[in-house]
Amino acid sequence: MTELTAQTGTRTYGLFVDGQWEPAGSGRTFPVTDPATGATVAFVADAGADDARRAIEAAYRAFPAWSRTPAVDRSRILRHVAALMRERKEPLARQLTREGGKPIREARGEIEYAAGFLDWFAGEAERVYGDIIPHWTFGKRHLVLKQPIGVVAAITPWNFPAAMVTRKVAPALAAGCTVVLKPAEQTPLTALALAELFAQAGLPPGVLNIVPTSDPRPVGEEMLHNELVRKITFTGSTEVGKYLMREAAGQVKRVSLELGGHAPVIIFDDADLDKAVAGTLASKFRNMGQTCVCANRIYVQRGILDAFAQRFAEAVRSLKVGHGLEEDVQVGPLIDAAGLEKVKSHVDDAVAKGARVLTGGHVITGDGFSGGCWYAPTVLVDMHDEMRIMKEETFGPVAPIIAFDTEAEAYRRANDSRYGLAAYVFTENINRALRAAERLEYGIVGVNEGLPSTPQVPFGGFKESGIGREGGPYGIHEFLEVKMVGLAIDETVPGE
Ligand code: NAP
Repeated sequence: MTELTAQTGTRTYGLFVDGQWEPAGSGRTFPVTDPATGATVAFVADAGADDARRAIEAAYRAFPAWSRTPAVDRSRILRHVAALMRERKEPLARQLTREGGKPIREARGEIEYAAGFLDWFAGEAERVYGDIIPHWTFGKRHLVLKQPIGVVAAITPWNFPAAMVTRKVAPALAAGCTVVLKPAEQTPLTALALAELFAQAGLPPGVLNIVPTSDPRPVGEEMLHNELVRKITFTGSTEVGKYLMREAAGQVKRVSLELGGHAPVIIFDDADLDKAVAGTLASKFRNMGQTCVCANRIYVQRGILDAFAQRFAEAVRSLKVGHGLEEDVQVGPLIDAAGLEKVKSHVDDAVAKGARVLTGGHVITGDGFSGGCWYAPTVLVDMHDEMRIMKEETFGPVAPIIAFDTEAEAYRRANDSRYGLAAYVFTENINRALRAAERLEYGIVGVNEGLPSTPQVPFGGFKESGIGREGGPYGIHEFLEVKMVGLAIDETVPGE
C-alpha cells in the first residue's frame, strides 16, 4: 500500500481510486486510533465529495468491461483474494484488532469469515441463471436475463471491518457491478489492506475504489445524488439507514440495508443449561457485545431462572478483559467514548429502576486500562419493561436476564420490538423449537446456538432491522436487475 508521507512515525495511507493510491484532494488526513489505548495507529487520507465523485466516475468507466468479463474470470479473482487473505491472516487480524479492538482470536475468525464471502460469491457468479418462460401464444418467446445493476456505493460499520466489506464487495463484483466503498472512520485500515489484495489478485483499475473519510456526510451525499450510482448498500444504525433510504428515493436508487438489532434469547425450562450458558455467552460477548446480532434481552423461564442466572454470571465473571492483542483475552475495549457512555447510561438507568447487578456494572479504570474505553462484563436481573435497555440496542457487554412464565408470553415479549434481526431459542423439545422458529419475527433464528451465521446462508432483518439479504444464494440478487426480453419469432419451418 502506498506510503504517502510520514507523520509522527506512523504510516499515512492514501485513498484507493482507479487502481491508484492517492492523497485526498484537500490534502487532509485523519488519525486512526487503537481503542484499547487511544494511541494513534496510522493516518488516512480524508476523502471529500470531489474524491467520492472521482471514485464514482472511475467505477462507472470500469463497469462496461467488468460487467462483460466472463463470470469464471471474475470468480478466479475473488478466489485469489480469499487465498491471499488466508495467507496473510495473522497480519490482517492484528491490524483489525489494533483499529477495532476485538480480541485477536475473534479477529482471526473474522478474516476467515470474510474470506468465506469471497469464496461463496465466486461460486455464485457462475450460477446467475436466467429463465425461459413458456409462451402464451404462437410467435412469441419470453426470456428473463439477470444483469448487474451498475455502480454500487457501499457504506460499512466499524464492528466487522473485514467481513462487512467482503459481504458487500464480493457479491457486487461477482454480479459484474463496480464499487465505491466508504469504510467506517474508526476502521478504514482493514478495508485498505483488502484493496491492496484485490489489486494484487489482478482486479482491473476502477472496479473497486475506497474512500475513507472523517466526515461521512459529503461523501454520502455524493453517493446519494450522483446519477452514476445505481445502488446503495449499507450496514450500520437504523437511524442512518432511514436517512439513506429517504435520500435514495430521489433517484429511486436500489437500497439494501443491514441495520440495528435488539436480539432476544429465550431459554425454556427444558433447555440444556450448558448449551444455553455457552450459546448466550458467545452471542452476548462477541466483540464486547458490539454486534447487531448480540443477545440484548435474555428471557429465562421462571423455574430455571436462578440456576441459569448463577451459572451465567459465573461464566461472565471468568471472562478475561484486556488488550485484544493478548492471546487469551476474551473481552476488549468499547469502540469509543460515545459507545461507553451509552452502555453506562443503560446500566445506570436499569439500576435506578430496580435492576440488581450480579456481576460488573461499572467502568474499568486503572493500570492497563487508561486511554481506552472499558466496561466490565455485566449481568443484570430483576428487569422490567420500562428500562431503556429493554427497548434500545445497548451495543456493549451487558446481559439483562428477564423471567417469563408461559411460551406464549415469551414470543409476545420477544416480538415486542421495532427491530427484527436475530433471535435465539434454547430448548430440547423439537416441537417447541419449530414453533419458536416460526413465531419469532426475526430474519435469523439460532436454535440451541449463539452464532448461527455463515457466508452460505442469508443474513438480514425484519421490521426496522433492514431491507434485503446478504450472504447465501440470496446475496447476489441484491446486485442484479431482472430484464424480460419479449421475442417475436416466425414459427414457420420452411419445407414443413
Ligand atoms: P452508523 O453510525 O450508522 O455508521 C455506519 C456507517 O455509516 C459508517 O461508515 C458511518 O461513517 C456511515 N455514516 C454515518 N452517517 C452517515 C451519513 N450521514 N451519510 C453517509 N454515511 C454515514 O453505525 P455504527 O455506530 O458505525 O455501527 C453500529 C450499528 O450498525 C449498530 O446499530 C449495529 O446494529 C449496526 N450493524 C448492523 C449489521 C447488520 O448486518 N444488520 C451489522 C453490523 C452493524 P462514520 O464512520 O464516518 O461515522
